[in-house]
Amino acid sequence: MTDPNDTDLRFDVSATILVCDDDPTVRLLARECLESAGMSVLEAENGQEALTLFDKQQPDLVFLDVDMPLLNGFEVCRAIRQTERGQSLPVLIATGANDSRSIDQGFEAGATQYKTKPINWALLSRDVKYMLRAAEAFAALKAQQVQLRTLAYYDPLTSLPNRRSFVDQLKKSLDETADHQRSLGLLMVDLDHFKRIHDPLGEALSDSLLKVVAARLEERLSVYAPRGPDPHEAINRSDLDDMTIDLMRPGGDEFNIIVRNIKDSQALTTIASLILETLNAPLIFSDNHLVLSASVGIAMAPEHGLESEAIIRRANIALGAAKLAGRNRYRLYDDSLADDAERKLRLEADLRDALESSDQLFMAYQPQIDTSTGRICGVEALVRWSHPELGAISPALFAPLAEGSGLISQLGDWIFKRVDSDIQTLKEVFPSYLTISINLSPLQFTQANFLETLKLRLSELQSKNAIELELTEGVIMSDADDSLLKLHELRKAGFRLAIDDFGTGYSSLSYLKDFPVNTLKIDQAFVANLGDESGNSIVRAILALATALNLDVVAEGVETHEQADFLTRHHCNILQGFLLAKPIPLQNVIDMLDVDFSHMYRMQNS
Ligand code: C2E
Ligand code: MG
Ligand code: MG
Repeated sequence: MTDPNDTDLRFDVSATILVCDDDPTVRLLARECLESAGMSVLEAENGQEALTLFDKQQPDLVFLDVDMPLLNGFEVCRAIRQTERGQSLPVLIATGANDSRSIDQGFEAGATQYKTKPINWALLSRDVKYMLRAAEAFAALKAQQVQLRTLAYYDPLTSLPNRRSFVDQLKKSLDETADHQRSLGLLMVDLDHFKRIHDPLGEALSDSLLKVVAARLEERLSVYAPRGPDPHEAINRSDLDDMTIDLMRPGGDEFNIIVRNIKDSQALTTIASLILETLNAPLIFSDNHLVLSASVGIAMAPEHGLESEAIIRRANIALGAAKLAGRNRYRLYDDSLADDAERKLRLEADLRDALESSDQLFMAYQPQIDTSTGRICGVEALVRWSHPELGAISPALFAPLAEGSGLISQLGDWIFKRVDSDIQTLKEVFPSYLTISINLSPLQFTQANFLETLKLRLSELQSKNAIELELTEGVIMSDADDSLLKLHELRKAGFRLAIDDFGTGYSSLSYLKDFPVNTLKIDQAFVANLGDESGNSIVRAILALATALNLDVVAEGVETHEQADFLTRHHCNILQGFLLAKPIPLQNVIDMLDVDFSHMYRMQNS
């Protein structure tokens, strides 16, 4: 009974067809036709049996008679449609009734196709194949749609919702929050110094580390509270009752968390602590022992706004404050933080003016004393800003500000020019043996044309005096391999190099011995802690290290005779600090060149 011409319809599925009819002749004929076309057939003689078989055998298509005992075909069809698998299953309803009402009734019950009896048996297998093919195409389309949605809304690395999803979900959740008079919280999590981990690990390993981090967070949070409803499905009323937590990855090393139905801000700070605790737990990853930390900014609705933009902005402000306060902590937004942000903006604008007006900024020079001679051997150039209204502003404050606003290259350039001109002004009396130390900002170091600018500004100076560039450990270590190349270039260009604030960063010894630096500057904090045994032993260790690597050592922040004495006795060859001299105008340094400072550190036994 096969149609010899239907070769075009031979496709590879060996489909299973469930034939349900109380008339055994119909079942027999249907089986004949379908089996000879390569399909398998299941038979049911009533609706009940049909549903059981549907459930157990998962047929690819259902052929249904309407008039049957127990359950009629319409009822069976409706029941099938209510199951998940049955939603898109092709169902063919066959009945003797050919009035338009019955046909409508069939389609309303969910039939894909409606046939009136008598069935044209010669064409049945063809019809069924067409229906299967249509169903297959539909399923493929649907799968594609799901895939597209996944791509559009989920981060492929962690499978967490992505930035777009985050914005959508935040908006939706904020609407519900307003409708139901609930509170919502947003936590923005940013891993601290991820670049320092990223660069040595490389792209692929960093990615898998992020995956591990995402999984850890997700696990920890899911224990604490369930996830919210899928934002792309209709919202289920009952989901509104309890707190839910959704973790998302908008990109990079950031994670966002939306917490719905909170009672108060304490729920949010508890979650933030949980996150910090989870990240702080030691982690062994590809043979590295890692301890991660993060900064977390928190904002909540309706307290901090009802619009997604406002909540995001404020969580971001809080995040900035958490970072500024030293990272590995959370901050809940409050208006004073916004004031800080605003103040920062104003200060930025003022700094721009200061760079143009030229009389607000100037340089001070702090002498450095060679302990073997007791005389000044160098100066560190330190920038100063006297603000017309606010007075003196510390470079520790405005250098990072300039860094963040892109003013730093202008400031850096200004500093080179000014140091050069300060020294040119005194060139008759300025001795060539003095080393001039200049601090470099992190961004300057990474700028492409940086070396050219340096040479341009400092070449004349450099021909007479040694110029030492100070870089912090953090800057060098943030991209150790790239730094190595740059440091070599700088050395080749004739500059001396110093690691500033040594001990506060993350230098690994293996790198340190390869870095072509001349000097270590012991951070003031270590000098300040001299006196007790642990403070002493750290400094002794740094000094021993410097000796082993044959480096000069400058101790910064020397304020007492005891410190100076200890440092000298342990072979620190250069001292810098208020005890010896404060940062002063260059002319004053010149006036002090003959002063012998050695009585300040040779107090004991000599
Ligand atoms: P730094 O490079 O570690 O500079 C040393 C800081 O310690 C200076 O602070 C100096 O005045 C201060 N200091 C020196 N002796 C003592 C002491 O005995 N006790 C105490 N408590 N402090 C002492 P300053 O001038 O406020 O500079 C702070 C930071 O700002 C510098 O730290 C440096 O990182 C940055 N900075 C300063 N000038 C420049 C500059 O021209 N360019 C760049 N990029 N950064 C600069
Ligand atoms: Mg310095
Ligand atoms: Mg320093």
